[in-house]
Amino acid sequence: MLNSSKYRDITIGRGVCSLLGTTIVVYLYVVDGLLIDAGPKRLKRESSKFFQEHQIDQVALTHVHEDHSGMAAWLQSKMQVPIYLHEMSIPEASKRGRYLFYRQLMWGGRPTFISQPFPEVLTTEKHIFDVIDSPGHMKYHKVFHEKNQGWLFTGDLYVRPKPFVAFYDENMKDTIASLQKLLQLDFDTVFCAHSGVVENGKAMLQEKLNYLLNLQEKVEGLRRQGLTDREVDQKLFPKIPLITKVSRGEWSSYNIISTIL
Ligand SMILES: [Zn+2]
Repeated sequence: MLNSSKYRDITIGRGVCSLLGTTIVVYLYVVDGLLIDAGPKRLKRESSKFFQEHQIDQVALTHVHEDHSGMAAWLQSKMQVPIYLHEMSIPEASKRGRYLFYRQLMWGGRPTFISQPFPEVLTTEKHIFDVIDSPGHMKYHKVFHEKNQGWLFTGDLYVRPKPFVAFYDENMKDTIASLQKLLQLDFDTVFCAHSGVVENGKAMLQEKLNYLLNLQEKVEGLRRQGLTDREVDQKLFPKIPLITKVSRGEWSSYNIISTIL
């Protein structure tokens, strides 16, 4: 069973995956029959019980990464619920996920599933969620905004205020633009897929934006002095973190530097 808790009328499932000293927490949210992100297949034993114990009528995936979509196929076959996904990721979801071995160990496989494009808004009995494009963590990424409650479900856009590594297909310039766009909206509470409920969420998103803008300025200055991105990376992030070694460079600070301008 996933560790389950409540925040207002939202049920929160919390699971933990670890690999070689790296531990990542995964949060799943059920609001009024709407499941936001399906979690990785590695948590199948725990999450399938969690899904069966709660009413689930529809599933909204923030993006197609396997730690968010690994249980989508199970939900589809056992619960016959619609699964919404960014329309540009629908073809990818219909093929088996292929990725490096460390990701398979960390998250498990990602079986194929049939997804459908999002409607303009997701509706449940009590809530309406605006579906908003928010590229950065990946090109095809959505967040869900419940403006009457001041809630923002951010998938992997936030995660932490001061990122020290980025995934190889992340784009920090896009992350900056998405944060700027989302900060125009009315919300307080952020529901993050890896750091849980962030009650001062708007302030934390602003903190992340400030951090990235500051970093952008530093990178710009160092590039102007003639440093290459590799040299800028070594200067600003001298220590190589464990995740960079475990992921054979798929997660690195270089990916931040090279995409921030
Ligand atoms: Zn992701």
